[in-house]
Amino acid sequence: MAVKVLASGYNAPLAQNVLKEEKKTHPPMTDTKKPSRADVEAAVKTIIRWTGDDPTRDGLHETPARVTRAFEEFFKGYDEDPEAILQKTFEEIEGYDEMIVLRGIRFESHCEHHMAPIIGRAWVGYIPRGRVVGISKLARVVDAYAKRLQIQEKMTAQIANTIQNVLDPDGVAVVIKAEHHCMTTRGVHKHGTDMVTSRMLGAFRDNAMTRQEFLALVTDNQLRG
Ligand SMILES: [Zn+2]
Repeated sequence: MAVKVLASGYNAPLAQNVLKEEKKTHPPMTDTKKPSRADVEAAVKTIIRWTGDDPTRDGLHETPARVTRAFEEFFKGYDEDPEAILQKTFEEIEGYDEMIVLRGIRFESHCEHHMAPIIGRAWVGYIPRGRVVGISKLARVVDAYAKRLQIQEKMTAQIANTIQNVLDPDGVAVVIKAEHHCMTTRGVHKHGTDMVTSRMLGAFRDNAMTRQEFLALVTDNQLRG
């Protein structure tokens, strides 16, 4: 099943472009002072009042504090450095140079247009060049980007670019399949619709057989649920 990659599709100019692109999508968070917890709780209270409900009634009394804590969890990715997560690598791999794929990594994110949930799975593959990373680290990179305000296309590219930049492998492949609640629970209300995005770099982009092998692993995994 495994396909040996004879010609490396990787080259330095590509890495530089990827790096530039990555920097561009990471502007400094904000110049202004971060709002306090009390500011956020007040904002939630305003939203409750705006819906027409009474934020002082028993059931809603502690909701602003709870929502703030929930948001802290939803957006904890801003406190993580995805590149740092991949720093620790292992080099004693006996020359292993075949594809490594972590399949069906479940994630929860929020769309930057409606702050509505994006629930999905990610398939992440790479072909190591002399060193590998602990597989849980790939899942943590997915989470570090998912726990932010996102659009799926950008998140897919960010995950692939980060792995390419830090591990410098022969190639990286990322496929994401997700349901966007801004589309299923509001707006056009198309329940059961999901979106698929992918980003292929290096050997996965240049070698059709390598890409096919990866996509077959994704499809096989999906069919088995
Ligand atoms: Zn949306």
